Parts: sequence; C-alpha cells; structure tokens
Amino acid sequence: MKTSIATVSISGTLDAKLRAIAAAGFAGAEIFENDLLSTNLSARDVASLMADLGIACTMFQPFRDLEGLPEPQRTRAFDRLERKFDVMAELGTDLLLVCSSCSPLADGDRERMVADLQEAGERAAKRGLRIGYEALAWGRHVNDHRDAWALVRDADHPSIGLVLDSFHSLARRIPSSSIGDIRPEKLFIVQVADAPILDMDYLGWSRHFRSMPGQGEFPLDDWAAAIRRIGYEGYWSLEIFNDRFRAGSASGVAVDGYRSLKILEGGISRRSEVKTDMPPRVSTQGVEFIEFAASHEEAETLGGMLRPLGFRPTARHRHKDVTRWTAGPINIVVNCEPEGLAHSFDSVHGASVCAIGIAVQDVAGALGRADALHIPRFEQAVAPDEWPIPSVRGVGGSLIYFVDAATRDAMWAHEFPVPLEAPSAGFLTGIDHIAQTMQYEEFLSWLLFYVGLFDVQKTPQLEIADPMGLVQSQAVESPDRSLRFTLNGSLASQSLSSRFIQNYFGAGVQHIALATENVFALAEAAQSLGLAPLEIPRNYYDDLEAKWDLDPNLIDRMAELNILYDRDGEAEYFQFYSRAFARRVFFELVERRGYDGYGAANAPIRLAAQARHKPEIID
Ligand code: MG
Ligand code: MG
Repeated sequence: MKTSIATVSISGTLDAKLRAIAAAGFAGAEIFENDLLSTNLSARDVASLMADLGIACTMFQPFRDLEGLPEPQRTRAFDRLERKFDVMAELGTDLLLVCSSCSPLADGDRERMVADLQEAGERAAKRGLRIGYEALAWGRHVNDHRDAWALVRDADHPSIGLVLDSFHSLARRIPSSSIGDIRPEKLFIVQVADAPILDMDYLGWSRHFRSMPGQGEFPLDDWAAAIRRIGYEGYWSLEIFNDRFRAGSASGVAVDGYRSLKILEGGISRRSEVKTDMPPRVSTQGVEFIEFAASHEEAETLGGMLRPLGFRPTARHRHKDVTRWTAGPINIVVNCEPEGLAHSFDSVHGASVCAIGIAVQDVAGALGRADALHIPRFEQAVAPDEWPIPSVRGVGGSLIYFVDAATRDAMWAHEFPVPLEAPSAGFLTGIDHIAQTMQYEEFLSWLLFYVGLFDVQKTPQLEIADPMGLVQSQAVESPDRSLRFTLNGSLASQSLSSRFIQNYFGAGVQHIALATENVFALAEAAQSLGLAPLEIPRNYYDDLEAKWDLDPNLIDRMAELNILYDRDGEAEYFQFYSRAFARRVFFELVERRGYDGYGAANAPIRLAAQARHKPEIID
C-alpha cells in the first residue's frame, strides 16, 4: 500500500508536520493550502524539504468552486486555477484536488459542468498537470461519487480524473459496489477517513469527527476491497479533520495515521482478501497475569486487599523481589524490585499496574504484527537463566507481555520455583475485564492500538456521567471475551478519570474486574475478612426495587453487601467494588448471568460513591 496523509490531519507548523509524517513512515503527503499560506517557507522550500525527507508531494488541495459558474465568475475561477498551477509547479506535485462546487451561483447543468472540466483538463495538460475531481457530501449539485464519476467519464480528458474520499461516500451511505464502475486509470487518488455514525449535517460531521481507519464505524473494509478490486494501485491518503488530533502531538498523530493505514491494509475487522505483508491481528487466550509495581509497604497494603478476595502469595521469583499471588486461574505479580522497569514505573506513577501478560498462541506472529504497526518493543536485559517473555509498550508506558500459551505452566515453574503458601479454594474464576483511563486526546490512539494489535472488536461508544463531568467509555473484546479492556477518557478536569490521570501522572489501569460465579458468597467472605467495599447509598436500592420488581429480600441482601445490579432483558449483572488501592487502582467483582455489558447504568452511582471518598483518590 502506498501511504500518504494530508497535512491538515495533524497539528503544528508545516515543516514540523512534514518531519513527523516522514518519521512515521509515510511515502507521501498532500499539501493543504492553508498550511502553505501560513508557513514562512516558499513552495520551493517545501518541495526541497520534502525531497530531503524522502516523501512525495501526492497532491495540492483544495480548489473550490470551479465548475458551473456564470461569467464573470467563471473567468475569475479559471484565472485562480492558473495561479494554483504555478504553485504546484514549485511544490513539485502534478495533482490538484478540485472539490465539487458549493457556490450558490453554480449551475447544475451537466453539459456545462462537463465542458468546464474539459477546459480545466486542457489547461492542466499544457502544464503537465492533472486534476482530481471529488464529490463533497455537501456539494451543491454534485454530492455523490457516482455523479462525479459520470462527469469525469464524460469529460473524457486524460488530465481529468476522480478522487474518492471514504467520508463523502460512506457518510451518504453510497453502496461501495458502485466503485466497480470506475476505471482504475481514472482514479487519481483515494482519501481515507473513518468516523462514528452520527445524525448531523455532513459538513460539521466531516470537519470535526473524522477519525482514522479502525477508530470509527464506517464499513471501510468493503470500501477498500471495492477499490482494490478495480485494480487501483495509487496512494491511500489519510484526510482527517478532528479537533482532538489538532490538539495532539504531530508525531503521535502521524504514527497513529500510519498505523491506521496498515490496519486497513490487512483488514480492520476481517482479513483482507488481497495478499498483503501484514501479519494477522493477534488472537489471544486471555490475561495470563497482571503485574503491580510497588514498594514493600504498598505491597503489604495490596496483599491486605488480595487476601480477603481469596488470593494467596503462592510463589516467589527465583532471584527477584517479586511475588506471585494466585486465586483460581488468576495471577497477580507484585514486583518490589529496587531497579528495573517496575521500579522506575513505581517512582513515576506510584504503586500501580506496570505490565499485563496476555496469553497468545503465536508469540513470533504477535511481535511481527506489533512491528508492522510500528508499536515499539520493550527490550530489557534478560539474564541467561531467565525465561524470555517479549513485550511491547502499551498504555501510559506500561508493558504488554506476549506469553506463549503452550508453555505458560513451564514459564511459571521456571520463574517462580520458590513455594510460599498453598492456594485457597475461593470464589474467583478469572479476570473479567481491565479498565484503563487516559486523557481524552489519547483515547482514540489507544483504541487504535488495541483494535490494530489484537483480534478484538470494539463496542459502541458510551458517555458516562461522572459527578464532575462526562467520561467517554468504550470496550474492546476478543471474540470469546476472554480478553476485555474498557477504555475511559475524560475532558472534565475534575472528573474521577481526570483526577486519576493527574494522580497517576499518565494513563493506566484504573480498575481490575474479577469474575465469580457466586457474587454473594464472595462479597460476604471478602467483606467479613476485612475488604472495605465501596459503600452504595440506600436510595440506589429503593430505586432498584421500583425499576426491576426484584424480590425485596434479594435487594436487602445486595444493599447489605453493597452489590450493584444491572439487567439487559433476562441477562443480569451483579457487581461490587473495593475501595482504591494506593489512591489509584480498585477491584470490581462481577457475576454475569448471561450479561455482556459492563454495568454502565451503575457507573454514575459508583463514581458518585468514589467522589465521596475523594481523599482516597486524590491528596
Ligand atoms: Mg477529501
Ligand atoms: Mg468495570
């Protein structure tokens, strides 16, 4: 896939944008006119900078309101066109984007539009240039790529071709099968954007909500397959307008952009039928372990929460100050080493989750996928007798280990040979989900990380009311749901999520949800053994009674144990929460009875309860 990105997609000055684009691995960039107008560099300087950076100038854009104008506006438009041709010659690109007219003066007469395109083609040909015509979703007379293609086809000029932009076509739900009518030599460039499905005007939707492939909800796999099927071999160029990306760092957005095109190349939600070098998304077999970085004192506190839940310290690392706690199939590793990543993590973030081990069938394949997406590996010195577990950088600088599912027992036996206490028969059956909290600006980036790296699907985006503001929440889930992450991002600086980030100095794990098949027995055992639950107000239970017509005895029992309840049809969800450990991480204990969600309806209750314990979350 030949990769390109429009400079409008990222923040910063034009030269900073171009450097970030080159560093991220793109082969080319479209120069957005406003970026050129606002830089000190001349068009020639931009051309030589791009040459030095090794990126092609794939297009100059946009040219507006060309076709269908009456005189004298028509003459003026063509004069303007000639001036843009002058700039293009200096920029070193032969392709100009002309978008369908929005001018109230434009005439919708087809013959007139075809004649104008021919005239523009003649003028471009004299300069050795080409024009790509794009149907804007809000174009006055042309707002459908099928109409734009018919005009290009009828203009029948070698310098006039089509630009397909996924936003304009998919926002209007134009069937991608119609792309089959387009002749590949006439498709001059393809522009790519994803977006959430929204019910709003096309212009506002496009200007503010475009996102990268994999971050939104457009059927991009079908769209891209239709383009490949006609034999298109040109650039795939990202054109993203999104306020969040403009607020982010140029290099971060450029890296995500490159990653998103590679994800599209291999297929976003199903494998591309076209041969590609992209290794497939990593299929996972659940979370093998969660690693905490902590001081000895913090480890003691954490142990005081783990023990009532049924965890026992069952083994010690062969030579490191690291303890393995287990409960049923769940492993929590507590790392008190005075040096290494866990220690530096503890110094920067305070006691918290510094790594997550994910069981995979094919470790080499997982690393190959990460490399192809430019996800950095974490290399750390491994002693000769140490079991090597490869890892990559995840949320907030934490690590994701790829644990070979076939040899995981051998790994534990080798690394943790020193037995401590016997495991206890408890009520925990596994890790249900891991919740991570991040800045609102980073949210889409980490979403892309998960959907790109792993074989997971994202759930619809939710907005959750925190007493101090709104939190955006979305989950990614493996097909068998043995791996589930919920991602939370907040704009409101005083929301719990934001306070978490401030307190944590960055994004990270906010809660760990553990599964049980008997939430009442677990709650009773844990709370009687000293686990302080998050206290839920009685009003909640009165409302529950009114809402679901539940047995009053059951409700009393839930109230006594601070268990929250949600329901979806006949499916039920029971959950209770611990208080926060080290003011950052807390545990959720859940019993699912056929329920697939995350108790979003209860999140405002939980957040309000936590806000009452604010000193726990923030100093
Ligand atoms: Mg476009
Ligand atoms: Mg949860």
